[in-house]
Amino acid sequence: FNARGMAIRSEQGVAVRMAGALTDITERYKAEQMKSEFVSIVSHELRTPLTSISGSLRLACGGVLGDLPPKAKNLLETAYKNSLRLGALIDDLLDMEKLSAGKMQMHFEVTEVLSAVELAVETNRSYAEQWGVGFDIQAQLEHAFVRTDPARFQQILANFLSNAAKYSPKSCNVDVTVARIGSMIRISVRDYGPGIPMEFRERLFQKFSQADSSDTREKGGTGLGLAITKDLVEGMGGKLGFESEVGKGSCFYVELPEITVTAQNQPTLTEQS
Ligand code: ADP
Repeated sequence: FNARGMAIRSEQGVAVRMAGALTDITERYKAEQMKSEFVSIVSHELRTPLTSISGSLRLACGGVLGDLPPKAKNLLETAYKNSLRLGALIDDLLDMEKLSAGKMQMHFEVTEVLSAVELAVETNRSYAEQWGVGFDIQAQLEHAFVRTDPARFQQILANFLSNAAKYSPKSCNVDVTVARIGSMIRISVRDYGPGIPMEFRERLFQKFSQADSSDTREKGGTGLGLAITKDLVEGMGGKLGFESEVGKGSCFYVELPEITVTAQNQPTLTEQS
């Protein structure tokens, strides 16, 4: 049951009566549980066979079947790319479900920011090249440490980098900056693309929201990336933000509290938040 109540007071401020409402939320709770189980089962049942399909297609594209006629090769490559897209969508759905059910487990480690950023840039470079875009790391802030779940931190950076790449004009590089702002470390990813339309900004971090619905087809997105990223950043005790000017570009950033690493390599918070 969900209970809500309030005291009704006399003119002198003395509570004379209580009014309230009890709502039976058993059904709602059950429905939530079922939805959560459904998404998790479906995702796992889809994920396992899909991994095997992608693996076989990757081998086939890699030449394991010998020299194939160009048409066959093209078909296999399209199938492989789409199997990866489907895999990414299933992963996003699983993550979204875990985050909204409060079941996302983070495994925190001390993370050196610049190396993590360099790794993310390297991992996403070939994706950006498909859009004719490169990455420039602007500031070399070395030996700055934050507390992250490293795999999830890579996911956050990959979301910023891949969005910046796909919304950038061709041959226009994306700038990646690491800076210290007070007690926080800020990682910014700036592009020179179309910017975020004013009327879309309040929906930017909502699930399945896209400024332009044709983007799913043309750019391969689902509108889940930023919703997941926001929850992940908040789960790490950080803050996510953006600045954008229509027609000039956008800058998405994540800020995490800096930690100092002592001689014993034990992290201590420089500032308690
Ligand atoms: P996806 O990229 O999968 O569509 P996201 O949640 O990452 O989903 O982004 C949601 C929407 O926000 C995008 O579809 C796009 O409309 C807008 N967006 C995100 N990043 C940028 C960017 N750097 N420049 C312009 N628009 C962006």
